[in-house]
Amino acid sequence: MIYFDYNATTPLFPAVKNAVTAALDVFGNPSSVHGIGREARKLVEGVRAKIANSLNCTPASVVFTGSGTESNNSVLRAFEPSEVLISSIEHLSIINIYPEANQIRCRPDGLIDLEDLEQRLASGRHRVVSVMMANNETGVIQLIPEVVRLARTYGCLVHCDAVQCYGKMPIDFTALDLDFMTISSHKIGGPKGTAALIMKPAHQLASFMRGAGQERRRRAGTENVMCIAGFGAAVDEIFKVNWERIHLLRKELEAGVLNLGLEIVSQEYARTPNTSMIAFADAKQGSIALMYDLSGVAVSTGAACSSGKVDRSHVLKAMGYPELPVIRASLGWQTTQKEIEQFLAVTERIVTRNHKEVA
Ligand code: PLP
Repeated sequence: MIYFDYNATTPLFPAVKNAVTAALDVFGNPSSVHGIGREARKLVEGVRAKIANSLNCTPASVVFTGSGTESNNSVLRAFEPSEVLISSIEHLSIINIYPEANQIRCRPDGLIDLEDLEQRLASGRHRVVSVMMANNETGVIQLIPEVVRLARTYGCLVHCDAVQCYGKMPIDFTALDLDFMTISSHKIGGPKGTAALIMKPAHQLASFMRGAGQERRRRAGTENVMCIAGFGAAVDEIFKVNWERIHLLRKELEAGVLNLGLEIVSQEYARTPNTSMIAFADAKQGSIALMYDLSGVAVSTGAACSSGKVDRSHVLKAMGYPELPVIRASLGWQTTQKEIEQFLAVTERIVTRNHKEVA
């Protein structure tokens, strides 16, 4: 099977498997004061320092959580829904926290509407703004420095979901002057079950989980030492990836796709180097994803799937994009030139078949 779904999750780097295997023997509780506990603590703190170094923030800013979803919930659930301003293209782990929260409009190009953001901020009712760094469906990169500047003008805190950007481009948490940021291990070749919330050390959040005082009282629950070890190894590996090579492969994929008469959503805007949202005219959404699957290519429909039915993407809806069937192809470090050629051959067969069906 050809894997073109790196935005959903990624294969583990071999170094991650080794780190996790080695950590199986580090069984101590990092909160225990004895030697066995201190060994686990040392491992956790080493990974914390590594993550902090990669984001130019202090280790005290890094809080380990269980998933990107949990990091997002930890920030936004600390506020009343009426105090929260989110963009209309956020991941469902934000949209579904407060579906009724004030949502910033998105422009047809996939960027959030900064004028709309400013108008909403001007009401003075909000305390926190949450805008993602890059969208998981289109890959479009938001103008985060502008979002921060506007939020500060109106005295608001800023949370940024950087799950789809971390490791793919440099991020300087301190220079961006963010208050909170989310990253997740399984999107960078690390294990599932661990993620981080980056926050200015001076901030405290009312945790929605009650328990002991782990993670400097910011996230109760014993740290997932084994997965944190893998997270650390993934951080080492992800920054060695040649994203320019992946970008060139995507360019080739998109040229081929356009040649077949298909569209690329937000093609001309700054996007993460690995993501392509491809729109098909004259086809049924369900059948396209199925055809790729049956042809041995794993892609995403780019939309939530509930009770066997694929819902329309809330991102494309917010962009006002026509109601066309779409797939998301997201490449990664194992993607090869040959796989791009195979993907294009499969896409050509699907397009030809659709034409026949429609005719
Ligand atoms: N935010 C974005 C932008 C994502 O793409 C995802 C996962 O797809 C998440 C948050 C949730 O992360 P996790 O799967 O670690 O809960």
